[in-house]
Amino acid sequence: MSDYDRDNIFAKILRGEAPCVKVYEDDDTFAFMDIMPQAEGHVLVIPKTEACDMMDLNEEMTQKLIVTVQKIARAVKSAIGCPGVMLTQLNGAAAGQTVFHTHVHIIPRYDGVDLGIHATDMVDPSELEKLAQKIRMKI
Ligand code: AMP
Repeated sequence: MSDYDRDNIFAKILRGEAPCVKVYEDDDTFAFMDIMPQAEGHVLVIPKTEACDMMDLNEEMTQKLIVTVQKIARAVKSAIGCPGVMLTQLNGAAAGQTVFHTHVHIIPRYDGVDLGIHATDMVDPSELEKLAQKIRMKI
């Protein structure tokens, strides 16, 4: 893998060395609440492999990641009750990526409501846990 840093924050979350508000886990993928959400119910989905970005993922893991993204996006839409769901995925600093373990953002969207600013305001984990509980019930 290209320059994968095993001490990036998502690698630490996967190893249980850093906290997160977990939403879902299977053998190959992991989903958790974004700590600086761009909308209420913002979830991140990551593969359990060392991959800086999507270009580092093999076809099998790409398929597994996208299947989990669809599963969690459905649950977010149902739990949050948002009319729209945006999926975003940034590759490389030039594209705005800030954590170099590949991930897909699942972000609730509403008519006429602007997207919150990327990775700025930290939310209390207890608030994220309430949302995660609602989402887990819909998976
Ligand atoms: P990106 O800029 O696409 O690499 O997105 C990284 C995302 O990770 C941002 O939306 C951050 O808010 C989020 N983030 C950073 N650190 C954490 C963390 N410890 N737990 C949950 N989300 C995080």
